[in-house]
Amino acid sequence: NSNLSVIARASLLGSRYVLLQVDDRTEGVRLDEMRRDFVANISHELKTPIGAVGLLAEALSSAADEPELVRRFADRLTTEADRLTRITREIIELSRLQSADPLTDAELVDVDHIVASAIDQNAVAAEAGGVRLVRGGDKRSTVIGDEALLIVALHNLIANAIQYSSRGARIGIGVRAGDELVEIAVTDQGIGIAAEDLERVFERFYRVDQARSRNTGGTGLGLSIVKHVVQNHGGEVAVWSQRGRGSTFTVRLPRGLRPSSAEPALLDPV
Ligand code: ADP
Repeated sequence: NSNLSVIARASLLGSRYVLLQVDDRTEGVRLDEMRRDFVANISHELKTPIGAVGLLAEALSSAADEPELVRRFADRLTTEADRLTRITREIIELSRLQSADPLTDAELVDVDHIVASAIDQNAVAAEAGGVRLVRGGDKRSTVIGDEALLIVALHNLIANAIQYSSRGARIGIGVRAGDELVEIAVTDQGIGIAAEDLERVFERFYRVDQARSRNTGGTGLGLSIVKHVVQNHGGEVAVWSQRGRGSTFTVRLPRGLRPSSAEPALLDPV
């Protein structure tokens, strides 16, 4: 329907204009400082696994005639290498979000589709962790943006919910479409986050429990990526949590199209 596609394009252009404005202002002021912090954090985060790889390699070469030791050191080498790979991938993702304009590919995105994709990507992890992903809420809403980035953001929230839940728990992924905003909430019944940590969890490399998070492969970058993706889309992300009871992360994005109000008027002009 050509009328519909005109609405879509107009709303696409409108939103992109606003989004670029927001970007320009924040980027200009804070970019230098952010880059300096970022490099300092990266160096710090990479030091530990790189140091471990060096030590393990040395230990390996001096344990050559003890197969059991060789196997143990080799296993740990693999773990550290995996960790380095993950940190590197997330750093690249994050720096792409912070430097370039990530919304050059902005398009009309079907919320139902990005939610379904993010759930699919986490299905294996959910099964392995013995948790149930339950989806609910409104269907058929759209937002303007970069589909792949939005899937990454939702993926990270669901992956965290799985990671910090116990077996048998349930994770809800709900969508609510209002007049102006689409709200996507990921709710778990997991370990929760203490009040003093809540406002810091979106910081790069911030982990509530460094040791446990490191054991479970966390980098502290996941939520920072979520925050950047959502902000680049002109939205916001909020968290509610209570220690021992669970957490709800809510992403609010400006709606791309409001078919209920715009569609009839334009399709059927009086
Ligand atoms: P990580 O890779 O360590 O999970 P994130 O940036 O995704 O890093 O999260 C930062 C920290 O916030 C985590 O280390 C964890 O302590 C806490 N966190 C994130 N999501 C949840 C959740 N759903 N339940 C409890 N704690 C969470």
